[in-house]
Amino acid sequence: MASDTSALDAVRPAKEAETVTCPGCHRECTRPGGPIHTYGCAPCKRIYPQVLLKAACDPFDYALKLRTGEVIRFYEAHIHGDHVTLSGQTNNYEAPVEGLQFACPRGVDVRIADIVWCADAPEGS
Ligand SMILES: [Zn+2]
Repeated sequence: MASDTSALDAVRPAKEAETVTCPGCHRECTRPGGPIHTYGCAPCKRIYPQVLLKAACDPFDYALKLRTGEVIRFYEAHIHGDHVTLSGQTNNYEAPVEGLQFACPRGVDVRIADIVWCADAPEGS
């Protein structure tokens, strides 16, 4: 395996174990090989929802609900400690994050402890 790692390494098919950057703690970790994609190191898998770890590696269509009731649709996530920055598609400034009172074109920081659920491709893919 190449020693050069990035978040993009996490989205490649995992045929063999590989070294990737954990999207939770941003340290290098080994992702086991096999057909099932998992994201994050073992300690981060116990802390963060798997969908949130995936959203930090594989921008796509995601949704989550906050304890305060808002349901947010987002494209990608960046985890930093107890918070996550949710962003819409960077080329779509009209509605980058859906579900909030404001458009939040630069993303929105959410306290991870206040997330009730997360969904990957909430309407299918
Ligand atoms: Zn980690």
